[in-house]
Amino acid sequence: MRRHQILSALLLLVAFLLPWRLVAEPSAQPRLRVLATFTILADMARNVAGEHADVDSLTPPGAEIHGYEPTPQDLVRASRAQLILWNGLNLEVWFEKFFADLRGVPSVALTEGIEPILIGSGSYAGKPDPHAWMSPRNALVYVENIRAALARHDPRNAEAYAANAAAYSEKIRAVDARLREQLARIPEDRRFLVTSEGAFAYLCRDYDLRPLYLWPINADSQGTPRQVRAVIDAVRAHRVPVVFSESTVSPRPMRQVARETGARYGGVLHVDSLTNARGPAPTYLALLESNARTILNGFLGTN
Ligand SMILES: [Zn+2]
Repeated sequence: MRRHQILSALLLLVAFLLPWRLVAEPSAQPRLRVLATFTILADMARNVAGEHADVDSLTPPGAEIHGYEPTPQDLVRASRAQLILWNGLNLEVWFEKFFADLRGVPSVALTEGIEPILIGSGSYAGKPDPHAWMSPRNALVYVENIRAALARHDPRNAEAYAANAAAYSEKIRAVDARLREQLARIPEDRRFLVTSEGAFAYLCRDYDLRPLYLWPINADSQGTPRQVRAVIDAVRAHRVPVVFSESTVSPRPMRQVARETGARYGGVLHVDSLTNARGPAPTYLALLESNARTILNGFLGTN
């Protein structure tokens, strides 16, 4: 008898709780699962998503993004995503093939609507330069594309995405103004930005610098004797005081340029990847500020 009583009490309890569970369901709906191809896009997307979507980066901090080789686990992760954000403009040369293996996961190229600068030399000459995010002005287009994509795939939180995008865009504009003020202090006749990869065309356009580089893009051959020779000649001809390298490539060829020309090796810039939380560029905005600081210190001889 007692057993029966307990059982009916339990049944009552279940019957009582069931409607509440149904009512509680909408607020407990899972968050949109977003996967970005690399750390910089993931950081931008996190700023727009706030608490309303889960954003992950397919590649880890420090990864080489141009020639990345996706693993079978990457494919599994990507197939679980509800939205994939990628750069496009031939940055992720591996992506189209990778994406062809994914069924039904929507993807958005965040450079949609950006006027590309074309690559000037090498085997990718005439193709768009993919490093459009290096211009804060372009980053505003990325942010708007992220906002639109999140709102389309998760309309319930569209207002929050719009508010987050507006606040983040304001921060990007503030960093842009600071960069303009800082980089304007580089002497007029020395305004060459010498880097390993020619990834700074957009940044140079925005802040009135002239890009000089060893190789046009990391997807191409890197640091050949001919590339090193050409930059040595240019650094000498323009009496450029400082040269830089990037975090995802070997600094060796640029150190050779520094040795042979007497220019200072100004250190490491961040382009294709963020650093982890302990590094100098754990976010996109920190990346822009860290680069500006490194460039300016290089020219002023304080690093
Ligand atoms: Zn690159």
